[in-house]
Amino acid sequence: MKGYNYINLGTHSGINASGNGNGKMTLGKSIKMYLTIFILTTCIYMALYQYHISREPFAASEVVKHQEKTSSYIASYLWSPISLLMANGSSNINTNSTTTSTTIAPITTTTTTATSGTMGQKVGASSASIRMVSLAATRSTFIPSSSSELRSGLVVGGHRKTATTKKTTTTTSTTRTTTTSAASGLATNKLTTTAITATAKLSAKTSAATPTASHLDKGHKSRTTFVAASEPPPLYIITPTYRRPEQTAELTRLGYTLKHVTNLLWLVIEDANKTNPLVAHTLDRIGVPYEYMVAPMPEKYKQTKRAKPRGVSNRNRGLEYLRRNATEGVLYFADDDNTYDISIFEQMRYTTKVAMWPVGLVTKTGVSSPIIQDGKLVGYYDGWIGGRKYPVDMAGFAVSVKFLKERPNAQMPFKPGYEEDGFLRSLAPLDNTEIELLADDCRDILTWHTQTKKNAPAQALNRTRYKNTNLEHIDRLLVRP
Ligand code: UDP
Ligand code: MN
Repeated sequence: MKGYNYINLGTHSGINASGNGNGKMTLGKSIKMYLTIFILTTCIYMALYQYHISREPFAASEVVKHQEKTSSYIASYLWSPISLLMANGSSNINTNSTTTSTTIAPITTTTTTATSGTMGQKVGASSASIRMVSLAATRSTFIPSSSSELRSGLVVGGHRKTATTKKTTTTTSTTRTTTTSAASGLATNKLTTTAITATAKLSAKTSAATPTASHLDKGHKSRTTFVAASEPPPLYIITPTYRRPEQTAELTRLGYTLKHVTNLLWLVIEDANKTNPLVAHTLDRIGVPYEYMVAPMPEKYKQTKRAKPRGVSNRNRGLEYLRRNATEGVLYFADDDNTYDISIFEQMRYTTKVAMWPVGLVTKTGVSSPIIQDGKLVGYYDGWIGGRKYPVDMAGFAVSVKFLKERPNAQMPFKPGYEEDGFLRSLAPLDNTEIELLADDCRDILTWHTQTKKNAPAQALNRTRYKNTNLEHIDRLLVRP
């Protein structure tokens, strides 16, 4: 009884409301109905399938495809007319906008998750976070960041704040762990970082004037020890610094440059009688392995009206540290206000005796450089020669630690204008032919002797007016000479 069925179906579906007995009409309407039912069933199937897919964890390859917006990615979305709807639905299911952004622009989202402990924790409980973590771990675009993490882990045993902080309470005992092997590097790094977060305590006695305990008080004493790796040769960067309004900014800028360099110990030496918690805090925050020391300029030079030997006591203190603590690698004097292309660090670390290269100047001379002819060092170009044997800039040479240690009396003289020359002379015997020429045989400029404009100190904060506000905290971050 086909006719009956048709009519019946039509009646049920409400399409053939009249129940007309005309055979052709009934057949036509029935076909329409079948088609409608088929389409509806297909849609329901697709909807169910999309929902099923949306519940599946993302495969890494799929995510990469999504990032790259390949044709298959686009095609997969064109395939189903309701997939857009379902995509929105899936973000609703996860009650978290991060899933949506995983599909659209996962790079930012996942990087943040992987590099920020706070963020990782925040989303740690949601289903979206599970996806994000697996993304971060497998995504190919994440490799640069994780490899730098590894490089750092190899040598510093935990200065990078990259790990999520789930195991905060259980890992405090690893705070002072020092990483010595490649295999344990990353893991220890993460644990130690966790411990640092958990156990940061007051490192310096805070004065009575401080508003409350703040991030400034978190100690650099919880840092781990730098253990130099043999390969690539360690770099020791000696940076003189002194208190002034620009100090924090200078150290921050230099610090983040150095953060790109592996197997490096930053010797920050302040021209002061005691260390400054603000400097320690700044160095901690940057996360480059460092030693922070003081070496005040002798009083007689401080008092003089004439040019002062700036940063000399600091640099000599750095040399003393190396004589005691270093066995190999290379030292370099990096003033806190100069500018450095990181490729020079990779070149200088293989110095066997003394290496030299051009330094960009902000004077009318434009550059200070060894003069090279036929591949040989034949002289020096500088705005001022002044009878110097080595008329070079402080930013233009590096010295092997072994070479230095073979010359126990080598140091920098308190002689303004002759600091570099005096130090290099004290490294004798050193033949001109032994000087290694870097930066494309001195045809390139990779360091600059820049100078920051000196500024007047900020005026004192009106403590009564701004009592119990954030300005009380900010005030502690200002350097007032
Ligand atoms: N410096 C110092 N004490 C001072 C003046 C300068 O320790 O009283 C440091 C300063 O931070 C820098 C280096 O010594 O790293 C060279 O000083 P500056 O940049 O003032 O010298 P310039 O580059 O102008 O010759
Ligand atoms: Mn300078």
